[in-house]
Amino acid sequence: ASRHRVLIIGGGAGGIAVAASLRKRRRDLDIAIIEPAEMHSYQPGWTLVGGGVFAPEVTRRPMAEVMPSGVTWHHARGAGVDAARRLVRLEDGRELGYERLVVAPGLVLDWGAIEGLEATLGRHGVTSNYRYDLAPYTWSLVQSLGQGKALFTQPPMPIKCAGAPQKAMYLACDHWRRQGRLARIDVTFCNAGEVLFGVADYVPALEHYVARYGIETAFKERLVGVDGPSRTACFAVAEDDGERQVERPFDLLHVVPPQRAPAFIAASSLANDAGWLELDPETLQHLRHPEVFGLGDASGTPNAKTAAAVRKQAPVVAENLLASLAGQPLPAAYLGYGSCPLTVERGRIVLAEFGYGGKLQPSFPTWVNDGTRATRGAWWLKAKQLPWLYWNGMLKGREWLAKPAPRAAERP
Ligand code: FAD
Repeated sequence: ASRHRVLIIGGGAGGIAVAASLRKRRRDLDIAIIEPAEMHSYQPGWTLVGGGVFAPEVTRRPMAEVMPSGVTWHHARGAGVDAARRLVRLEDGRELGYERLVVAPGLVLDWGAIEGLEATLGRHGVTSNYRYDLAPYTWSLVQSLGQGKALFTQPPMPIKCAGAPQKAMYLACDHWRRQGRLARIDVTFCNAGEVLFGVADYVPALEHYVARYGIETAFKERLVGVDGPSRTACFAVAEDDGERQVERPFDLLHVVPPQRAPAFIAASSLANDAGWLELDPETLQHLRHPEVFGLGDASGTPNAKTAAAVRKQAPVVAENLLASLAGQPLPAAYLGYGSCPLTVERGRIVLAEFGYGGKLQPSFPTWVNDGTRATRGAWWLKAKQLPWLYWNGMLKGREWLAKPAPRAAERP
């Protein structure tokens, strides 16, 4: 098996950002990335594609363009990790060895877990901003719906960008309101969870918009089946003594599917009981295999699964990995930062920024971000600044974007 000093699984937000951060710090380091996809996606942009703000093309670029120079790209899919032998097995049967491994394959969208969904996605009014090819369909459905019933679903946690299911809903409602159609459209938010948002500080601002748009909230309702042609969705409603099924008719159904760890990670010795990477939440080093690090959506650390989290995680992994190669103590700490720009209307955002335990971690002055209300500054950030920062800052390993905090022992 050929062997690399640093091998990275996944060329998404996490994999590319770590590779770039490592290259910035050590020009001569031998780094390889295993990544099967031809295109790299800026998924946070898909909410704005579904809201008619971005053209889909601006949210992705050829993978070859985002690969940092000097990094070897194995155009293949990882299929197994043998951490004891320090080998990654590829789907085509090849094996690659490593001195240090960074695991960043993202998560898996489990469309198949909802009966009938795959057969009707992209037709019969059934859409999802969670797929590049479907986000434009969301916008075309929103534009064409004159009256009727619109359902927006949210699966059980964890999911990537926990706010995205309701972002799609608010942007749709805002369009209908501006067009004078909202009174003729019944909007229901069917959420498998019990709260609008996991961090209580942001809930009042969201409730304000739920009331403004006349949205009905249906908590503890999990989508289990879709019949496209008859336009009916089936939900399992959690009750004290079990589950009850309800059917809801729809004209528009925006689905966010259940999400899980990649099977090859769940099956490896790297996984926790739920299948996610078992990492030290502060150093992002694996708890049982010190030569393994991880970040992004596949990680089992209790932060919000967002690209914003990856922005902070990537330099922490880079610094700690280099220290571990040099046999030194790990210097950098990740404090659980994640962020979720809740697009409550076109032109305004409630920008949630928080770390482990829901502790608020604002990075901006209150004119840009006041978590208790929606601001224009936060919209400007999301629509104009963040995509640029993603492509030109985060994916290039720019240090000024996210200076890692020192470990707890060294923090004042
Ligand atoms: P990804 O970026 O998904 O990359 C994973 C990569 O691994 C992919 O390139 C994939 O091809 C590759 N891969 C998969 N399996 C294998 C394998 N077996 N072997 C090798 N490679 C593999 N985040 C925010 O910060 N703000 C937002 O507003 C926001 N909004 C979002 C809205 C939507 C609709 C969605 C879908 C996501 C949103 N996110 C947002 C979340 C953000 O996109 C993710 O958290 C981020 O992309 C995670 O990075 P990652 O590298 O872990 O995974």
